[in-house]
Amino acid sequence: MSNSIKKIGVMTSGGDSPGMNAAIRSVVRTCAYHNVKCVGIYRGYEGVMDGDFKDMDARSVKDIVNKGGTILKSARSKDFRTPEGRKIAHQKLKNAGVDALVVIGGDGSFNGGLIFNQEFDFPVIGIPGTIDNDIFGTSHTLGFDTALNTVVECIDKIRDTASSHNRLFFVEVMGRDVGHIALNAGIGAGAEEILIPEENLGLERLLESLQRSKRSGKSSSIVVVAEGDKIGKNVFELKDYVETNLDEYDVRVSVLGHMQRGGPPSCFDRVLASRMGVKAVESLLEGKSSVMVGLSDGKMILTPLEQAVKGKSQINRELLRVSEIMST
Ligand code: ATP
Repeated sequence: MSNSIKKIGVMTSGGDSPGMNAAIRSVVRTCAYHNVKCVGIYRGYEGVMDGDFKDMDARSVKDIVNKGGTILKSARSKDFRTPEGRKIAHQKLKNAGVDALVVIGGDGSFNGGLIFNQEFDFPVIGIPGTIDNDIFGTSHTLGFDTALNTVVECIDKIRDTASSHNRLFFVEVMGRDVGHIALNAGIGAGAEEILIPEENLGLERLLESLQRSKRSGKSSSIVVVAEGDKIGKNVFELKDYVETNLDEYDVRVSVLGHMQRGGPPSCFDRVLASRMGVKAVESLLEGKSSVMVGLSDGKMILTPLEQAVKGKSQINRELLRVSEIMST
């Protein structure tokens, strides 16, 4: 492994997600394992510009593998979007002797890291942390699996009340641009319909599908709706539309909101975070930079940050078909 990197900074940026703490722990412990110093940077790029750094050793990350959120806090920074802000950030890192950055966040955070790397030839590696799973170059982002488990647990509970009252529930889940959470959790929770931004089912077909469900003997229904679904303006409009057109239905809406982001990470996310942290630090020590760590076919891979930022994560068409068959 290369000796040119003596101190690595680790930070979390953008929206938090379960598994970020496990990734911080992994980065810190991998640094300790390879006798490389590590500093935690608070509040993402804001903290870089403020020099808000803290030396971290293996013991400083005890008892966090199971915690949601991020002990380093996260932030969104306007100033880092400016060349002046990034110049200050570079100076602060130099002053603190930090030679490389591990950025745990979403595609916006990687965009910032990419620009910073290009401007200052400063080594940056990304770890994808977002519940939306909307990043190109990895089958799973940190927090996605935990969010799915949270959503499935909530829908199981909603189903109890739906079937007790013969009700139709629209359950809105996160996913402004992508429907990964809706599609996976919808299948896992046995939803009758799943509405995602990638596929516009159309209001007419939704009504037909609900009528078919009723005819087939179903007494209650769950429709999972991704935030960014294009079929109606929002989930409450959908409720009004269905109640107006299908008066046999008693419709309720449940917006799951921020609870999807919180909670202890699943075992899958803890293992993934641990693997990604090791891969990120060891890749930096091997001289790699401007790449993102990802999971593909069960293996750790690297994708250039530029591709990770520009590429689009695709919805799994096989899952769409499975969901259609399951709602028969
Ligand atoms: P989430 O999944 O929650 O959206 P994200 O990492 O995509 O996470 P953003 O708010 O898009 O979140 O980005 C986080 C931060 O990265 C921004 O606040 C900003 O400081 C930095 N950043 C994003 N885009 C750029 C850019 N083009 N140039 C410089 N910095 C950027």
